[in-house]
Amino acid sequence: MNDQPASLSIPELQERIRAFRDERDWMQFHNHKDMAAALAIEASELQELFLWKNRGEVEEVAATRQERLREELADVAVYLLELADNLGIDLSEAILSKLAKNALKYPVEKAKGSNAKYTEL
Ligand SMILES: [Mg+2]
Repeated sequence: MNDQPASLSIPELQERIRAFRDERDWMQFHNHKDMAAALAIEASELQELFLWKNRGEVEEVAATRQERLREELADVAVYLLELADNLGIDLSEAILSKLAKNALKYPVEKAKGSNAKYTEL
């Protein structure tokens, strides 16, 4: 499809996103509040693809609308990566630390196969 490498690290992706933004002089618009709103709006566009669909229709969307799903997931990821970058948050470290916290909240022996919130386990 293009000559982009198939896989980049989070910092490499953030560098690409920063370059794209700065070439257009868009940092002046990318305050934290509007970046958080843009992230939520793109997540809503992702949700919209499945809106009002029953279980079978959801699976059909997943199977037949891969390109749109791919684009909306990328939109979410781009805003997420840029916002983390702008806030000086190391996303890899934040994810690993949150997973460790969640592991304490949801111990396997209590949470396995359960959809209960940790307060209900
Ligand atoms: Mg979008």
